[in-house]
Amino acid sequence: MSRAFRNRIPFLLVGIAISALFFHTFPIVADSSEPSATLPTRRVLLEDSSYATKATSKPDVVRVPGGVKGRRKRIVVTGGAGFVGSHLVDRLIERGDSVIVIDNMFTGRKENVLHHLRNPNFELIRHDVVEPILLEVDQIYHLACPASPVHYKYNPVKTIISFLKSTNVMGTLNMLGLAKRINARFLLTSTSEVYGDPLQHPQVETYWGNVNPIGVRSCYDEGKRVAETLSMDYHRGAGIEVRIARIFNTYGPRMSIDDGRVVSNFVAQALRKEPMTVYGDGKQTRSFQFVSDLVEGLMRLMEGDHVGPFNLGNPGEFTMLELAQVVQETIDKNAKIEFRPNTEDDPHKRKPDISKAKELLGWQPTVSLREGLPRMVSDFRQRLFGDSKGSLDGSLSAE
Ligand code: NAD
Repeated sequence: MSRAFRNRIPFLLVGIAISALFFHTFPIVADSSEPSATLPTRRVLLEDSSYATKATSKPDVVRVPGGVKGRRKRIVVTGGAGFVGSHLVDRLIERGDSVIVIDNMFTGRKENVLHHLRNPNFELIRHDVVEPILLEVDQIYHLACPASPVHYKYNPVKTIISFLKSTNVMGTLNMLGLAKRINARFLLTSTSEVYGDPLQHPQVETYWGNVNPIGVRSCYDEGKRVAETLSMDYHRGAGIEVRIARIFNTYGPRMSIDDGRVVSNFVAQALRKEPMTVYGDGKQTRSFQFVSDLVEGLMRLMEGDHVGPFNLGNPGEFTMLELAQVVQETIDKNAKIEFRPNTEDDPHKRKPDISKAKELLGWQPTVSLREGLPRMVSDFRQRLFGDSKGSLDGSLSAE
């Protein structure tokens, strides 16, 4: 040991003593999942002791997972280049959050998020959620899933598959695994299809449904039911903060034009001067929710204290013939209707009971079908015919 070094030892010891005293007086709450100094951790008192023991090894301190007011959140939206996802992304970016979209572009379109590509708070990752991915975020909105019959029936095995590699099962499992690893809050977009062809009307969240497990729609219905089960098991078993939304028929700008969903079908057909296809006698009912109402509901659910499941839908109930009539009034009063044999397992009635969302989320839809439809029509016109009167990126604020 050199003489110069020996002379410095007392200073070194004094330095160590001062640092020890400092850190003893002002302890730093560190968390292995906290990625950067710009995103501070906070001390909070735990209200739920089961969460404490399962979600963190620290008994009295936990990183606040999302929902922290006053700082920019980092949020993943899987399926964020799709119809609902891209509107959700618009709102989150508008709120000032950092958003990462994960999408394999199966039904999504880059055009839906093009207007954010230069925004430093936005990132688009082309990735299939059936493969794991590691990211550091506060919240995960899990939307990735082909949602229209045309698309989910196109590859039913991929929609649910043998429980090994499917969007609904493996995709949800991967995202729940990510949420667990980084202690993020996880929101699943489930569906009213979990009620199948319901024997109870309107449908309340406590109703367990009437689903055909071997029908052509089962890959979607049962896939979502499994996704709900997985979410609840991760919540109960691993303390993950989950939120479950059961979404009823939603429409609006950026819907896929030929995806076989009834509102987009009727609007596209009426605009193209083709007859509107009504399956069966047209007396089956559905409820139609404008996309901005859904996005508001999803955000309230994510930020709120309740796991759910919550029905998010518009309780206004229309028969298919009534819907066709509203489309005629909006687009072309001479538009024709063509009847075709009904599709297999088509539910006879659908109408959400939204009392729970009203009471616990303070949420209810505000846009009626007659108000919302013209906004969708102008987007479809723009995409079908390049009509400049429509909003170029389908964003709601531009309309
Ligand atoms: P959408 O098809 O427009 O969007 C789904 C998005 O997920 C697309 O961008 C698609 O490319 C992406 N995706 C699909 N599989 C993927 C995978 N394996 N990996 C990564 N990305 C993948 O559908 P949407 O209407 O926006 O629906 C969004 C969510 O809401 C879905 O989970 C759907 O089940 C649910 N939902 C929608 C409705 C509705 O009426 N729109 C009703 C009930 C439930």
